[in-house]
Amino acid sequence: MSVLDAIAKQYENNKTGNSTSTTSYEQDFSKYFAVRLEDGVNDGEMTIRIMPPKSGVHPQIKESETPFDEGHWHYLKVGGKWRKIYCRKHNDGEDCPLCTVTDELYQSWKETGNKEDKELANQYKAKKFYIARLIDRQKEDDGIKFWRFPHNYKGEGALDKIIPLFTKKGDITDPREGRDLTIILGRDNKNFTKITSIMAEDPSVLTDPKSPKAKEWISDTMSWKDVYSAQPLEYVQLIADGETPVWDKNLSKFIAKGDETESETSFKQPQPEKTTKTATTSFVEEDEDEAPF
Ligand SMILES: [Zn+2]
Repeated sequence: MSVLDAIAKQYENNKTGNSTSTTSYEQDFSKYFAVRLEDGVNDGEMTIRIMPPKSGVHPQIKESETPFDEGHWHYLKVGGKWRKIYCRKHNDGEDCPLCTVTDELYQSWKETGNKEDKELANQYKAKKFYIARLIDRQKEDDGIKFWRFPHNYKGEGALDKIIPLFTKKGDITDPREGRDLTIILGRDNKNFTKITSIMAEDPSVLTDPKSPKAKEWISDTMSWKDVYSAQPLEYVQLIADGETPVWDKNLSKFIAKGDETESETSFKQPQPEKTTKTATTSFVEEDEDEAPF
């Protein structure tokens, strides 16, 4: 199967709504590619090169001919901020507390006809994202990065803008005759960064084939599961229970906000009110300022 055929098949499968494992807390922000404008900036552009398909680098879509893997995250507000919560069920076939809640809500809707249950279930259910391996032309020294972007059921997502480039220009990921892509950014009416358009540049080499960079990039086998790691199960369970998880230093685990343990010093004298810090030690959250679905 050619690259184009493989992508076309993947794209068609997903258009019809057909939905389709290790954790590490070492997070290296240089591995994320994010489409985001700085505060106060209203437009800009980024130039990327999507890496050619490679066998073994996609933990989900095993076909080695497509440059896009697929993963699932729940996309919910936690403590007032949009968060992508790793779905253990869709990504690893394990139990996921948020999928359990989703199923319960759908079940309740079926039994009672309560539309609110259905709406809530739609909010809770895992959402599909695509993940591409790429080089950020402005940050080549970072090596291969991962770009995660949502599947858009209306056909208005990033992949919907990239597919026509494959169709018209051929395999844009080819290391010798492929093309860089320029992503034009703007803001939507809610001030979120949005992709205005994606253009294919003239054919060019990925990099000098004899350079150390070429060797490093081509031999890179890091998976997105190493980068977008799963949040601790207790954290996900708390969200499924309708709680806001906060990190409790004394217990060294996440607990529901409001259930924090007393610190030892508070027995001696009343403490000034302190907001409990969410953990930055066990995993790091990306800033989420892109548009919700
Ligand atoms: Zn799930």
